[in-house]
Order: sequence, then C-alpha cells, then structure tokens
Amino acid sequence: MNDQQLLRYSRHILLDQIGIEGQQKLLAARALVIGAGGLGSPAAMYLASAGVGQITLVDNDTVDLTNLQRQIAHTTERVGQPKAESARQTLGQINPEIQVIALNERADEARLHALVAEADVVLDCTDNFATRHAVNRACVALGKPLVSGAVIRFDGQISVFDPRSGTQPCYSCLFPQDQKFEDVACSTMGVFAPLVGVIGAMQAAEALKLLMDVGTSLAGRLLMLDGLYMEWTSISVARNGDCPVCASGAAK
Ligand SMILES: [Zn+2]
Repeated sequence: MNDQQLLRYSRHILLDQIGIEGQQKLLAARALVIGAGGLGSPAAMYLASAGVGQITLVDNDTVDLTNLQRQIAHTTERVGQPKAESARQTLGQINPEIQVIALNERADEARLHALVAEADVVLDCTDNFATRHAVNRACVALGKPLVSGAVIRFDGQISVFDPRSGTQPCYSCLFPQDQKFEDVACSTMGVFAPLVGVIGAMQAAEALKLLMDVGTSLAGRLLMLDGLYMEWTSISVARNGDCPVCASGAAK
C-alpha cells in the first residue's frame, strides 16, 4: 500500500481485526454484485469505499425516474442510462483506485456460472426468484459464498449462504425452487426507501467480513427486519438433506 492508500483506509487499518493485512485482502478481492438497484447501490458503494479491488456490476435495466427514491447510486441526470454504467460512475467517484466492471446484461445460467467463477464473494441484489435460484446454483456448484438480501414494502431480510462450510444451508434449502413464492417486484410494489439502504449496507458488511475472514457470518441464520416497528428477528436455518441443489449427490 502506498501513502495515499494508508490514509484512505486508515480507519479500517486502525481496527485490530482488520489492520493492514485485512485491508490488503480487500484490495486483492473480487466481488460480483448482481443488480444495481436499491440493494446493489449501497452494497456496491460500500464495497468501493472500503477498497475491494475489483467489483463487477451486472444489471440489464436503465435508470428510471421511479428508481431515484431509493437507488442511491443513480442521479437525476442519468435517467435513461444503463444502471450498471451509472453505478460504475458513482463508484469511480468514490474510489478511483479500484477496478469497476459494468455489465449491461441479463446474465443467463452459463454466463452467471462464468461470472461467479471469477468472484471471491457474490452479492445477490436482485428482485426475482428465478435469478436468485440461478445465482445460488452457480455459487453452490463453484463453492462461492453468497450474500443474499431482499426488501419489499417495510420488510427486509438478509442471510449468507456459504457452501465452503459443507454443513450450512444454501438458498434453495430455505426457499425451495419448486415452491411458488409471491414474486413481487419493486417495479409494482411499494418499497420504504431507507430499508434497501439498511439491508444493502449489511450485505456489504457481510461480504467484507467474508473477504477478510473476520468475525462470524450470517451463514445458517436469516435476519428479518420489520421496518414499521423496527424489530429484528433472527431464525436459524438448517440444511435440507434432500435439497436438489446442495445435498450430496444432487444433480448440479
Ligand atoms: Zn440447499
């Protein structure tokens, strides 16, 4: 690290659990952020400010006026621009020393597999179950930790799925792929703006911890936030021995 980096990251380096060694892990790390909307904005901004060396942003959407109430990586003047590119500009202004790759595309299964393979940690910041399950399958198959967040109305939730442990559940253990969940997108439902900031920032925190191997992750726990009463609920999530995605012998 040069003198400028020692200054930029000094408040991390001062932390006993991080220090120069932890900060160098972040500078050498690669994060994949899928979705550059309400969750992806704060998550990616904190990864960038914290000095994660390479951040890949994937989003096939463009910035819309209705996004600006909560998707804080975007600006009024960038309405109509691709979200991934708009977020890349914001991240570059926060920290020009890191590499930010903006992919204006909807990644299919094969593409996700390739992108996850190159990442040290994956942040699911999307808003639909089909993509969530595709991301989970890739993370399980490739043994990559997944930080998953979701927000709708006044409710948020976050968990970590870490297939490296060999004992922790995957996303599909918790939300089976064949189960029909209400797939309500933020495009049609209301979302209380700061809640995506709360959950997105926590996704960044969990991702940074995983990259530095600091503390204890949320693997095996699901945190749920009721934003109206501002109450957190933590539930333990067990591995499903018959999970078609992560159980031993499962077809991957
Ligand atoms: Zn599973």
